[in-house]
Amino acid sequence: MALDIQPVHPLTSRAHKKEDTVIRIGNHTIGGGTLTLIGGPCSIESVDQVMSVADSVKNAGGQVLRGGAFKPRTSPYSFQGLGGDGLKILKKAGDKTGIPVITEVMSTEDFDEVEKSADIIQIGARNMQNFHLLKRAGMSRKPILLKRGLSATIDEWLNAAEYILAEGNSQVILCERGIRTFENYTRNTLDLSAIVAVKTLSHLPVIIDPSHATGRREMVPAMAKAAVAAGADGLMIEVHNDPENALCDGPQSLRPEEFEKLAKELRKIHEVVNND
Ligand code: PEP
Ligand code: MN
Repeated sequence: MALDIQPVHPLTSRAHKKEDTVIRIGNHTIGGGTLTLIGGPCSIESVDQVMSVADSVKNAGGQVLRGGAFKPRTSPYSFQGLGGDGLKILKKAGDKTGIPVITEVMSTEDFDEVEKSADIIQIGARNMQNFHLLKRAGMSRKPILLKRGLSATIDEWLNAAEYILAEGNSQVILCERGIRTFENYTRNTLDLSAIVAVKTLSHLPVIIDPSHATGRREMVPAMAKAAVAAGADGLMIEVHNDPENALCDGPQSLRPEEFEKLAKELRKIHEVVNND
């Protein structure tokens, strides 16, 4: 009897494509041995806030500015984001500082609008298995950053990526952001082993979000460094100019000077890891 050796998610698989997928964003490339640093606030709150953080991210050597306009919040009474107005602020900050931007899309309804403003489109953990959204992302020509679901296995995560590739968009970046375990000292548990697993199983770049993985500012630098040492292609880190008064995720946000210091350390570790 012939064995079925087809991988379950063929297009994302290393068996299908041996070389790393490299994604070009402006004059920067993600994957294939580079280090990508994405920084910015959890949520877009105001013009001044985003402009200030954008300058800090750029000065620290970050390549992409993040900021949420459509926010997936656990409570319906929490700040839900500025929506379309937030997208405009983010785009303006990106244009002014000359830095590409990433923002989350939560529904197919908002996809066209987000697609126009963003250089990279984020699909959040809660929507990892929103198959309509994944299919729409697959029809986009923009790179998609796909976060791992709250309790998703690596296989489910790669299958979610497969949905995007199957529709014709091969520019997918995987993002590990911590998974749900019994431990509640941290917001989630960072699965560092996922970096090695995903890079073995797939050709897609993988980046780590140590902010949502830990929920604690004091843990972000150590986890970020561990991720680069483990072979991650980059980091997405929350940065806020006034974390005490942030409308979302202040306790896990680095201050600009902390991000700048960390960025320098990460570049050193990346150099060591990539010069063997
Ligand atoms: C975010 O990056 O703003 C976010 C909501 O993250 P996650 O989907 O990982 O919870
Ligand atoms: Mn956040």
